[in-house]
Amino acid sequence: MIRYTCPHSVVADTLAHLRAAGRWNKECVVLWLAPRASSSDAPPICAAYLPLQEARADRFRIPPEGMSTLMAHLRAHKLRLAAQVHSHPYEAFHSIADDDWAVVRREGGLSVVVPDFASHTTPENFVSDAKFYHLTASDRWLELEIISAAFEIVDDNRA
Ligand SMILES: [Zn+2]
Repeated sequence: MIRYTCPHSVVADTLAHLRAAGRWNKECVVLWLAPRASSSDAPPICAAYLPLQEARADRFRIPPEGMSTLMAHLRAHKLRLAAQVHSHPYEAFHSIADDDWAVVRREGGLSVVVPDFASHTTPENFVSDAKFYHLTASDRWLELEIISAAFEIVDDNRA
């Protein structure tokens, strides 16, 4: 299994984006990036990237322009897409639309869903509040049962 590490500040920035969109009653997706040259078994997430998106109360989508801006950003900064995090108005789960619109497409890719527009989620309770899914070899999103095996928040000075 792939093991991701993520700095505390990246989680905090991500939740701030999700909460800000939630105030407008909109979902939001934030992408987590890792250095392109880093290990594929243990990607050190290093940045939260807010892509250009069209969001509503119950879905989000990244238009082609948003995807090409993302790709240019990844190339310019020698980064790759490691994971995606998005909010839901109420319960956190991976919907059929989420499966279809997933930006992360690599086996082992991580998708995190945060409930209640992240209104009560903090870096401290992130792992218990959010739901974590990984993409299997058969291209299905499965909920991670033991999150600590796949994901760890690290201090910024360790990252
Ligand atoms: Zn969703």
